[in-house]
Amino acid sequence: MSFDLNSLLRPHIAKLQPYTSARDEYTGKEGVFLDANENPFGSITEQDFNRYPDPYQSELKGEISKIKGVRPSQIFMGNGSDEAIDLLYRAFCNPGKDNVILLPPTYGMYEVSANINDVEIRKVSLTSDFQLQPEKILAAADSNSKILFICSPNNPSANKVKREDVLFLLKNFKGLVVVDEAYIDFSDEPSFTTELDNFPNLLVMQTFSKAWGLASLRLGMAFASEEIIRILNKIKPPYNISGLTQETVLAAIANKPKVETMIREILEEREFLLSELKKFPFVQKIHPSHANFLLVKVPHANQVYDDLIAEKVIVRNRAKVLLCEDCLRITVGTREENEALLKALNKVC
Ligand code: PMP
Repeated sequence: MSFDLNSLLRPHIAKLQPYTSARDEYTGKEGVFLDANENPFGSITEQDFNRYPDPYQSELKGEISKIKGVRPSQIFMGNGSDEAIDLLYRAFCNPGKDNVILLPPTYGMYEVSANINDVEIRKVSLTSDFQLQPEKILAAADSNSKILFICSPNNPSANKVKREDVLFLLKNFKGLVVVDEAYIDFSDEPSFTTELDNFPNLLVMQTFSKAWGLASLRLGMAFASEEIIRILNKIKPPYNISGLTQETVLAAIANKPKVETMIREILEEREFLLSELKKFPFVQKIHPSHANFLLVKVPHANQVYDDLIAEKVIVRNRAKVLLCEDCLRITVGTREENEALLKALNKVC
């Protein structure tokens, strides 16, 4: 496949040199460090935070490389996947000229970030069962279509899209194809990271915010060719991943079996919630879920949403979202939380 990354890039980004860190020349841990205008006395917190963190996140990428089966040079770390989304627009989309293809209903930040970066949005809706329309997507694209965002499992519909449709788009879409796998750990679907060496236009996003339970730390990952990763590294703020985040995630990775147990529990709770919700006569539809949430269709969703809030049970109202009319998006909680939701639903419906 012919894919010319340089012709996709914004010209001024192509010309940028990677920044250099104050500590590039000396990577040892021991030394008298008078190069970065830090406070030599430490910090008043229990743990010392006075030194800048590793801007390349080398140790962390080494560990992520092992668990994800990709090379460290194929990994970008962002302050949440949200930072990666923003940097992709900044690298590839000329404001006021280029466009992005979005597939609603889908994750809101693709649109928010496009608007912030003055990137035209072209929308091709999913089908009524939330699948891709590959031919329509290609028809909507032109030579200024720089990025296509595919979310699978998709937020808010919770389903995975057909793998062959994604492969078709990887072969035929001329720009960058982003596959957002924020919820992949709740799915039996294999990750598209296995296709990275086959498609130079593929970028896969994952996050520590969902299955890993580390949303507050803000750590997202992008996996792509070394060339694409180099570009993202060139334009990220040098210290975008804090030292605390790097250390904490390293400890979490060392404890991966615990995370796997937690995922299994969430999947069990998803089944529990699904079977209990099905018993409610007013529940019209529950979409098949490959994520840690359920999209549930109920009559008068706005009213049910408000009534649940009065019971201090907060779900996401998606009633106004395309193809999600009268739907609530409900995150799978602990057994106690799920029972509280069911109890409140019993009361309000
Ligand atoms: N992608 C999808 C599909 C999401 O639903 C979310 C968060 N809700 C994100 C990305 C953002 O994740 P992060 O916390 O890593 O910024």
